[in-house]
Formats: sequence, C-alpha cells, structure tokens
Amino acid sequence: MDFALDEELRMFQKMFRDFAQNEIAPLAETLDREERPPLETLKLAAEQGFLGAPFPEEYGGSEIGTIGYCMMLEELGKVCMSTAMIIEVHTSVATMCIYLDGTEEQKQTFLEPLALGEKIGSFALTEPGAGSDAAALQTTAVRDGDDYVLNGNKIWIINGSIAETFVVFAKTEPAKKQERGAWGITAFIVEKDTPGFTVGRNEKMTGLHGIPVTTLFFDDCRVPAANVLGGEEKLNQGFATAMKALDYGRLGVGAVCLGVAQGALEAGVQFACEREQFGGPIALKQAIQNFIADTATEIEALRYLVYHTAWLVDQGQKYTKEASMVKLFGSEVADRAVNCMLQTHGGYGYIKDYPIERMYRDARVSRIFEGTNEIQRFIIAADILGEKGLKIRP
Ligand SMILES: Cc1cc2nc3c(=O)[nH]c(=O)nc-3n(C[C@H](O)[C@H](O)[C@H](O)COP(=O)(O)OP(=O)(O)OC[C@H]3O[C@@H](n4cnc5c(N)ncnc54)[C@H](O)[C@@H]3O)c2cc1C
Repeated sequence: MDFALDEELRMFQKMFRDFAQNEIAPLAETLDREERPPLETLKLAAEQGFLGAPFPEEYGGSEIGTIGYCMMLEELGKVCMSTAMIIEVHTSVATMCIYLDGTEEQKQTFLEPLALGEKIGSFALTEPGAGSDAAALQTTAVRDGDDYVLNGNKIWIINGSIAETFVVFAKTEPAKKQERGAWGITAFIVEKDTPGFTVGRNEKMTGLHGIPVTTLFFDDCRVPAANVLGGEEKLNQGFATAMKALDYGRLGVGAVCLGVAQGALEAGVQFACEREQFGGPIALKQAIQNFIADTATEIEALRYLVYHTAWLVDQGQKYTKEASMVKLFGSEVADRAVNCMLQTHGGYGYIKDYPIERMYRDARVSRIFEGTNEIQRFIIAADILGEKGLKIRP
C-alpha cells in the first residue's frame, strides 16, 4: 500500500492549486454577487485541458486519470464551488455519457469539442414529476422518419444556458411505463439550436450563483436518429448510461466537497488566529479548537475515501457503492465544515464580507443534487444487503 503521490501527480496538484488560486479565486465573490457564470475562467480552464481532464487524448482529453481529475476538482472546490460544479457536471456526467456509451462517430463529433472545452455539456434527466424516481420521467421521443420527436420538460439543469451539447433522457417505449423500471428510456444528444428546443431563465437559488440552472423545453423537437446515444443498439437502455455517468459524477461531487470543506477550514483557521476576544485570539479557546480538530479529521477521512474510490476507477474496478459513499459522506462533511467554520466566524460569518458566508450557501445543495443523500444511503444498503440475497426497493 503506497499513499505517496508520484512526481506527475504532485506536478498536477501544484498546477491545479496555482490555477485555482490565481485565476478562479479572484472571481468567486463577483460571480456570487452578479449571479453570472465564469465564462472568462472557463475559457482559461479549457486552454489548460481541465474540461477534458479524464478523457483519452485521442478524443481531445488530457488523460490525467481519475485521481488527477479529483485533485483538480478538489482545488477548484476549495476556492469556488460554482466553477467547480460547472466543470464537474460538464465532465463527469454530460461528456462522460458520450465517452462511456457513444458510438465511435459520436465520440469524434461530440466528445472532442466537449473535451477540448470548445463547447459546454449538460445532463438532463430530472423533470417536475421525476426527481429521486428519475425513471418515472415523462418526456417522450417518438420515431418519425429519420428523426425522433421529443416532447416534455426538464428542470434544474446545470449549465442549461451556457451549454451547446445536451444529453437528454426520454421515454421511447411509453407503453412499458406501467411495468416501472428503467427499460424504455433512451439518451439523446441534443444540440443547442435544434428547432423545438428552448432553454428557460436561470433559477434564483440559495447559493451557487455562478451556475446557470434552467428548465429545458422540448416542443416537437426533432432530433436526428443518428443522435441516439450509442446508436440504435442502445435504444431503450439510456437509463443505464445515466446511472453509470452518475457514479462518476458522485465521485466528482465528493471531490468538490472535499475542496469546499478544506477551503472552509482554512478560512476558519485564519479567522480564529486573527480575531481577538477576552484578550487573545479565539483560536486559544477550546470550543474553537474542537471545531477545527473535528473538521480537519473529517476532511482527512473524506480525502482517503475520495482518492481510494478514484483509484478503484482507474483500476477498472466496480465502484458504485463507493461513489455513493463519497457523495454521501463528502456532502455531509462539507455541510458540517461550512457550518462549524461559519460559527467560528461569529457574526462576521453571517455577513457578505467574508467568503464563508458564500461557502455556507453554496455547500448545502450537495446533499440534494446528483441523487439526494437518502438515495445514496439506499444504494449503499442495497449493495450490502444484495450480497445477502435481499433485494430492497427505494
Ligand atoms: C441546484 C440543482 C442542480 C441540479 N442539477 C441537475 C442537472 O444538471 N441535471 C439533472 O438531471 N438534475 C439536476 N438536479 C436535480 C436533482 O438531481 C434532484 O433535485 C434530486 O435528484 C432530487 O429530486 P427532487 O428534488 O425532485 O426531490 P424528491 O425526489 O421529490 O425528494 C424529496 C425528499 O424525499 C426524499 N426521498 C424521495 N424518495 C425517497 C426514498 N425512496 N427514500 C427515502 N427518501 C426519499 C428525498 O431524499 C428528499 O429528501 C439539480 C437539482 C438542484 C437543486
């Protein structure tokens, strides 16, 4: 067992850290205040190969492996969760669907511009009536000549107004609906300017103000049959693609949360050393030391979980349960970290002059998106009980 980073990973870590500190951090407060995406830094990140970090070079990726990719997300998450999550969703779920299950032709056409960061990707599964029960989606796709005609709405779609390539999930076998289960759902690659496809306004959210989260409308939207993800042989099997990409996504969310927690801890430690009450820094008070010690311990545990899971991925091993653990634990560690560190700031933590106020609002949703933590607990328990021959339902 070797926990040491090799020379190449140390180099990547330094590069990500420098980039995050020098380019991403200075914009974080502005994005939050102006409620706009970081288009200028996304362009810079694309030039550095960040938007295709885990994909092979032959498709325009940087091929740095999942450990390197998680390091990147950790460093981005530390300074700006909005920027980190735009890149995470673009890479881990949207582009990953095409990489995992796209045909060779689709990879050449769609994956390369996404991996190069020439285009931003988006992943559209959730609907008003289909959240945790995502397979209950109602958007339909009906074959008509050389096209499929899509009708329905998607909600809360990250990157909605900045993406050019959308992976959209729709029912191709509505008659099978009564059987429940995920068969009958197909993934489509939908390009931004496709007639019948429109993007709604950006949602007003508690935090993550740098992320455009929108509704998508499909109104007799004609998508070429050639854009069925994986071709006709993957027809009706799109839900499996979504679940595989979400495994990778949940690891990505955990890596972002690791960064968020670390960023919060560093902010809290600095404040505690500077803020004086009762004649000395509050860092000398045991209550504050406990916040610091508990947060640091949880972060360390999370770090091992994230990088061990990333290692499993790079070894080609099964990691669905571990990805859910990373997402569950990571989001709860981040949420506790921002909470403790806001408390460490006292009243200063509740006003907008200190970044912890933004971090606190940003972190909360990590317990909800890419599958709520209640659903992650179900996935973990289902895996464990499944080994005992017990099949459980959500
Ligand atoms: C900011 C944001 C960005 C998002 N981005 C995207 C995106 O890019 N693409 C996309 O497709 N989706 C996206 N989503 C959707 C997100 O994945 C869903 O919100 C999430 O899966 C939960 O669905 P829901 O909100 O409908 O909650 P519901 O499913 O209605 O759940 C409500 C509550 O009930 C609990 N619950 C539900 N079922 C069970 C069960 N069986 N057992 C125990 N508890 C249960 C949930 O855990 C939750 O606490 C985003 C959401 C947000 C808020």
